[in-house]
Amino acid sequence: MNQTQPASAFAHRDTPRIFCIGRNYADHVQELGNKMAGDNAIVFMKPASALISPEESLTLPQGQGSVHYEAELVVEIGAAGSNITTSDARSHIAALGLGLDLTLRDLQHKLKAGGEPWERAKSFDSSAPLGQMTPLGDDMDLNNIEFELSIDGKIRQRGNTSHLIVGVAELLAMLSRDWTLAAGDLIYTGTPAGVGPLASGMHLTLSGPRLASTRWWVT
Ligand code: ZN
Repeated sequence: MNQTQPASAFAHRDTPRIFCIGRNYADHVQELGNKMAGDNAIVFMKPASALISPEESLTLPQGQGSVHYEAELVVEIGAAGSNITTSDARSHIAALGLGLDLTLRDLQHKLKAGGEPWERAKSFDSSAPLGQMTPLGDDMDLNNIEFELSIDGKIRQRGNTSHLIVGVAELLAMLSRDWTLAAGDLIYTGTPAGVGPLASGMHLTLSGPRLASTRWWVT
């Protein structure tokens, strides 16, 4: 028996989960020609192996078509809970940060057309770059968090959580009906308009007035 292998899959239970929300800003739904998701936003997941740290280089998947950036506000859960109410949601949040939901867009279109799950287009290695998290402060209004993504010094995406279709508190309520949220779980809350393809040599900067800024470069 290989001693380096964990005793069982449950050895990984403490690994944070990454929940991602799709079609949560109307201007982005329109730019991709998608239908609105209705009362509930679209939910998909990425494995913890998708995370990469601030200031690392981004190595893109090769030979699978375009890789799009999607800048997103990321929520980190602090206190575990299920069936969380919107009025109680704030007390379950530890921190906020900025991240990228990298997407193999051509492959995603193929999978969507075939009615297949999106994992191959969304959950590959390094598909969830995540900046430094900022502890939730009393002065931070979950419904008014601004952020932007610049590429090579030019602003490509601007977001504000006041434009979320399903707001941050409502997302915690929605997700915690199906999953018991645990400390360390991450929620990528969706992307505003302005998504586009990455190319090697690009420098990306994510920033917001109340959030840690972070950079990645594409190799
Ligand atoms: Zn996204």
